[in-house]
This record gives sequence, structure tokens and C-alpha cells, in this order.
Amino acid sequence: MADETQEAGGVHFPFPFSPYAIQKDFMAALYQVLEAGKIGIFESPTGTGKSLSLICGALSWLRDFEQKKRQEEERLLEAGAPSSSDGVAPALGPPSSCRGSPGTPEATGEPDWITQFVQKKEERDLVDRLKEEQVRRKKREERLQQIRHNAKLRFAAKRMRQEDEETERLLRLSSEMLAAGTEPEQAASGEEELVLAEYESDEEKGVPSGVDMDEDDLDEEHVTKIYYCSRTHSQLAQFVHEVQKSPFGQDTRLVSLGSRQNLCVNGDVRKLGSVQLINDRCVEMQRSKHERKSITEEEEPTRRRRRQEPRATCPFYSHERLQLLRDEVLAGVKDVEQLVALGKEARACPYYGGRFAIPAAQLVVLPYQMLLHAPTRQAAGIRLQGQVVVIDEAHNLIDTITNIHSMEVRGSQLCQAHSQLLQYTERYRKRLKAKNLMYIKQLLYLLEKFVAVLGGNIKQNPNTQNLSQAGTELKTINDFLFQSEIDNINLFKVRRYCEKSKISRKLLGFTERYGAVLVPSMEQPKLSGFQDFLQSLQPGATAAPATPAEAGEDLSPRPASPLMRVEGFLEALTTANQDGRVILSRQGSLSQSSLKFLLLNPAVHFAQVVKECRAVIIAGGTMQPVSDFREQLLAGAGVEADRVVEFSCGHVIPPDHILPLIICSGPSNQMLDFTYQKRGLPQMMDETGRILCNLCNVVPGGVVCFFPSYEYQHQVCAHWEKSGLLARLTIRKRIFQEPKKANRVEQVLLEYSRCIKHCGQARGTETGALLLSVVGGKMSEGINFSDDLGRCVVMVGMPYPNIMSPELQEKMAYLDQTLPRAPGQARPGKALVENLCMKAVNQSIGRAIRHQKDFASIVLLDQRYASPAIQAKLPAWIRDRVEVKATFGPAFAALRKFHREKAGLS
Ligand code: SF4
Repeated sequence: MADETQEAGGVHFPFPFSPYAIQKDFMAALYQVLEAGKIGIFESPTGTGKSLSLICGALSWLRDFEQKKRQEEERLLEAGAPSSSDGVAPALGPPSSCRGSPGTPEATGEPDWITQFVQKKEERDLVDRLKEEQVRRKKREERLQQIRHNAKLRFAAKRMRQEDEETERLLRLSSEMLAAGTEPEQAASGEEELVLAEYESDEEKGVPSGVDMDEDDLDEEHVTKIYYCSRTHSQLAQFVHEVQKSPFGQDTRLVSLGSRQNLCVNGDVRKLGSVQLINDRCVEMQRSKHERKSITEEEEPTRRRRRQEPRATCPFYSHERLQLLRDEVLAGVKDVEQLVALGKEARACPYYGGRFAIPAAQLVVLPYQMLLHAPTRQAAGIRLQGQVVVIDEAHNLIDTITNIHSMEVRGSQLCQAHSQLLQYTERYRKRLKAKNLMYIKQLLYLLEKFVAVLGGNIKQNPNTQNLSQAGTELKTINDFLFQSEIDNINLFKVRRYCEKSKISRKLLGFTERYGAVLVPSMEQPKLSGFQDFLQSLQPGATAAPATPAEAGEDLSPRPASPLMRVEGFLEALTTANQDGRVILSRQGSLSQSSLKFLLLNPAVHFAQVVKECRAVIIAGGTMQPVSDFREQLLAGAGVEADRVVEFSCGHVIPPDHILPLIICSGPSNQMLDFTYQKRGLPQMMDETGRILCNLCNVVPGGVVCFFPSYEYQHQVCAHWEKSGLLARLTIRKRIFQEPKKANRVEQVLLEYSRCIKHCGQARGTETGALLLSVVGGKMSEGINFSDDLGRCVVMVGMPYPNIMSPELQEKMAYLDQTLPRAPGQARPGKALVENLCMKAVNQSIGRAIRHQKDFASIVLLDQRYASPAIQAKLPAWIRDRVEVKATFGPAFAALRKFHREKAGLS
């Protein structure tokens, strides 16, 4: 890969080719933000090489940072070397960040000799630490060099026959165990594993909470690094490929993180399918391993007495192999797929191999949820203190944080959890200690009350229970607790109990074992239709949404335990107070009704990230309007305004390659007003059709037309069909409609692009295709309408969100109460609605221009776009060129001229 080292702002940026001016500006601005420890909001339109600018800018900064650190270390070591032996260190001092801190001896007013003694000791410790660090770094570099030069032999030497036999044996054992649906120990000892251990709360034990008992002899110090996160796995893979192709591709220590569902290489565990089952099985196996290790000689006879067989451990979790895999991961840049292949080859777990590579990695690539959800972050071994975080594709960051921390539990899940728990207690009542029984009773009570507050009865089948009241009610957390009559229960303790006792995991094991065979013994006579319902308790039959920790796994099967949902709901209730609401949604039957925790202030969960990190970059193709990020997210998270830096770069295309127009009236002078009240008028729909007919006459190739909703799109199409306008449109363009079903999208797009290609070659009266899409639908994000696929993008009206939705109303009221109103500006709640609308518009219209030679016209139909306040929310590269056309004639003339001139370019 060519390396064209570029200089911008006095910094050398290696780059694979000569960068555009905007890429140089991007890298220089990024470097400054990282160096100064700020929060940057970076906007760079798609097609401008944003990923490459991010990679080369951030890794150049890291390169210089590491170099400076090493120089400083050497200076300190040189100055401090004699002091280790003779105790004199004239030039040595603590790092600049520590100087003069209140805790230093000078500040404490101690006698001189104590101050000197303490200072010398600190200096010696520092020198020793630096030396240790140097040795560790040198060793690691040597290991990685060896691996890089010795790729073919890397595992051969280590793969001893004995180990392989052991692997086979363990695999067989785990396979047999899974096939039997039970663990050998359970079969032999009568369900030891399912019974809750004696429980003591932390206060009773007097130990600090949150201690991770996980393995950690592979742990080492975390070097300064960049955490890069994005929305989907394919975006992450694309980013890794860009790193591979960049000048940093050879020697950057990069690790790609993912869930067990993506990374597990134990076929028997993998085939369990659901995220939750895979996680549970894996954790269970690791626990077995630790327990086996920690069984003392005194315990051994007891164990034998209980006739316990060794439980299965995962053969891919071997210390030595994980160490090797960790080094392999660090030795060359790999995406998740390559990591899995390597794990299979090395017979070591890529999930844990990746985790163990985090401390020494320079670049960690991970999905949003792993970074933005504190418990997931902690569980993955991510430490943000002093690190750099880059959040890419961040235009929906506020919504993403809100969704990760919101939790919905349906009536059917409440009933399932209750029924399972009841059956579990019945079976093990005699073996459960009093504390367990007490907390289980409280859980049962909570479930009963949650169902009651929805208007249902926990003892009846939720599928056949029709609720008398229907509708949505929104409550503060306190009001919800009172109304449910659970304000006397300490939810914090219950939640802690769930966490520590792992009750949902036990319950999952219990239902896996017994499936639908059990019926609650106490309630049998009253349970009409309960058998049917119990069918849904079978593992796999439950359709609960993904837990927040795993919500990033697109299309992931859902976890099997309803109690886990309830735990999530309790967690949400106990982590927010003023910032949360509970939505009681009563819809027909109890099954379909739900309790939903709604997070109103995502900033509380972002605060820790911005507080701990050295610098945070929030980047995207279209970040406008940025006021949401500044006010809702950053100011709310306690970030001072002067720590925030905004950077917005233009597009790589020449200015005359786009023609953005705001059109206020149509060919028959009908004012374009697509407000909810007016958009359904026949004259509005007719005028829209006439505009499209005119556009289709002058625009070659593809025209993509966005409507604010599916309903409106259907209404308009039905009207055009009746009026004959649809037939007129089809003379020039074949019409395609966005399908509602996701699995049809690819097919429609394929046919759309085939049609455009065919028309381009045939040169008949049909000049291309018209795609009728929906804002926020399946084609407004992630799909590129480059070149002929999108020569014109039309936006019909303004896609305001449904202002009648109770959730949005509550959020607006919350913002009005909590955010200050800037002079001359709309109320924060109203600004939110406008911003949501314009974000959706910007996403949709950003689909058309994808590279430097691309060109397209962008047509915004609605006189409301002419407002300067609305125009200010367009991306800079459109805003600077947009023209407002009060009448259709001049707009049409400009469009015809633009497309005639550009015809020669395509
Ligand atoms: S240790 Fe790794 S390979 Fe083994 S079950 Fe867990 S995730 Fe799968």
C-alpha cells in the first residue's frame, strides 16, 4: 500500500494516496481535539473518505503520543537511574499531571526530611515501574515480531498430541451433555446446579460489590488506545478493512470485539442459537473450570460423597492457547470473521482471546452496545480511563443510548416469569434457605402487582385475559411504584439479589430441563387454558426482545428467560428517578400489554464516558442539527461548552455537481403545504404528481422520492392510480415501491437498478425508474443511490414525528423543564421535534452523492423548508448551495439545465 505522507498543521499523516483538502483538514482537526483532550462533533458527508481520515488522523496522534511518552520515559529513566542505587534523583519528578497536586508532600506541610524521603521513594517506584513497563513492552514486541515472521509455524509447535486428545475428549463430553439436555452432574446428583446457594447480601457479608470473579491471570496494564465503535457488524468489518488497507495496516495492534454469538467456536454451544443460551452455557462452563481449579483437598471427599462427576468445560478455553491467540490477534489486523477462523485454527476461543488482547491493543473495534452500556462494558473488560473513544455513524446516538437503556416487559413475560418461579419454588422448597425463599416471595409479589397494575390477574392465562381498559398511561417512577403498591419493597435489594444469586439463570436451567410439563400445583383448578399457555414456556418458544447487552446483534434470536426481562426492568427502575418514566400500555389482551421503562435523559449514561475518557469523537456523515448533541447529550452529561469542538467539512464534489432546491409551489401554482391537515387534499396530491411527472421528463436514470410515511405514500399512490397520473408517470419511468418487509428490499433494489441499467442502454422513451420510498424506512439508511441509481432525490413534505405520541410529549415536556431556552430560539421541546424531522431529511437526501464524480439534484417540496431556521439544520454542503424557488417555472428550468449539462458526465 502506497504511503503518501502528508503534512497538515505541522503533523505528518501517512495516507494511502494524496488526500483531498477536506481530508487533510479533518485529520488536522481530529489530531488537535485528541491532543487537547476535547469532545469533537465531526461531520463528513459519505463519500468523502471519512473512515480513512479517522484512521490516519487518530493513529497518527497515537503514534506521536506513544513516541512522546517513550521519550519522557527515557528522560526519566536516565535522570532516575542512579537514584535507584544511591537515592539521588535531581532531575526526576512525578509526571507533569501529578505535579503540585494537593496530595504531594510539599502540600502537606510535613518536615523536610519526611518530604524528601517520600519524594525519593515515589521517584524510585516510578523508575521501577517504568523499567517494568519497558521490559513488558519489549517482550510483547518480540513475541509479536516472532509471530509476524513465523506465520506458518505459529501453532504447529504448540499443538501437542496430548492436548488434542484432551480437546477431543472434552468436546465429546460437552457434546454428549448437550445432546442429553442435561449435565452429568445433575443426572447423578439430582439437580444440584439448579438449586440456589445460600444467599447473603453484601451488607451482611461486608464485602464490596461488583467484584468480577472472572479469570485474570492474562490481564495486564491497559496502554493508551482508541476505542472505535459503530452501529452494525458490517460497518465495523468495513472499518477494519480500511485499516488493513491504510499505511497503519501492518503494525497496528487492533482487536475486533463481538458477542459470543458472533465469536464462539464451540459448535455445540453455538448451535444453542440464542444469545442468552450461548452466554449462559459458556459462563457456566467457565465457572465449572474455576470451581474445578478451586476445589481444595478438604472439599474433595465431600464432593466424592455427593458422587459429582467433573462437569464439562469448554476445550477452547485453555490458558496457554488463549495467550497464543491473544498474541496472534495483536500481531495482525483482523476482522471478526478472520478472528473466528484463527480461533478455529488455534483451537482457542476468539471471544476470550479478543478480550485478553484489549489491554495491549492500540485500536479496539466494537459495537455500540458494548461501549455505551456500562455493565456490558465492564463485563467485556473495557476501561475508559484516559482513553480515546470514537463513535461513528453517530447521527442517532441519542436514540441509541435511549433504546439501550429503555426496557419493555410484556404481560405474557410477567406471567411466564411468575409461573416458572412458582414451579421452581414448589420443587425445591425444602432445599432452599430462608433468605432465598424470602426474596423469591418478593419477586412473586412484584410480578403479581405488575400484572395487576396492567389490569390483569397473574393466575389466569394472559392470552385469553382481555383487559377492560385500553390505552397508554405514562407515570413517573414514584407514581408507578405507588400505584402498583410496591413502594414498600426495596427494589435495590431485590435487584442485587437477582444479580448475585443468578436466579434467572437457575430458572432458565430449570425450564430447559422441565419445559412445559409442569403446571402450578396450587392453582390447577382455576387455570383454564393454562396448558396452552405453558407451551410457550418452552425454551425457544419465548419471544422476548434482546437484552440491552446484546441488542447490537442484528437479527439475533431472543433470549429465553422472561425473568431476565423483569430483571432488566427492575434495573432500569432503580438506576433512574427523575430521568425515567414508566409507560403502561394496555392493548386488548394481557399478553400484548406491557410495562416499558422510558429513559428521558440519555446524558446520564453518557456522562461516565465523557468524564473518564481523554477525548471523545462523535462522527457521522450528517450530524446536523448538532444542537441536540450539544444540549441534550453533552451539556446534560456535564461537559463544559468550551470542551466541545465542532468540525464540519464540505463535500468532495465540485460545487456544480449538486443542485439543491426548495420548491414552494407546483406547476399550477398550488402552494406546497404538506402539513397533516392539508397533505391529504386531492389538489395537493395532484400537484405532487405533476411535479414528479415534470421531473421524470428531465432527469435521466433513477429518481428516488421520499414520503413522510407508508400510509401517506399509499394514499397518494391510490389517488394517482384513480386520476390516471400513475399511468402518465410510467411513460418515462418504471415505478417501484419500497416494500414493508425487510426481506424484499434487496430484490426490489436489484430490479430497480437492473431497470435503470437497461433503460440507459436501450435509450427508448423509458429513461429509468422511480422509486417511491419512506423516510426512516428501509431505504433511507445504509443504502447508496450513487450515480444513475439516484440522479434526483425528492422529499415530499416534512417528516415530523408523531407529536401525539405520549412518549414524545413526555420527552418534550421534560426538555422544556430541564433545558434553558436560548433567546430568540424555539422551546427545547419544539426544537427536538424539528431536529428529529431534519435529521430524518438529512439522512434521506444524503443517499444520492456518494463519490467525487457523482452528481444529483435534491428537491425539497414544502414551503416550510424556506424558513431560515429550517435551512440552518441542513448539512453545510447542501445549505451553502440551496436555492429557494417560490414558483415552479424557474425551479424546473434550473433542473432541466442542470441535468442537460451533466448528461455528458454520466
Ligand atoms: S469459551 Fe469461547 S468457544 Fe467456549 S463456549 Fe465460551 S465463547 Fe464458546
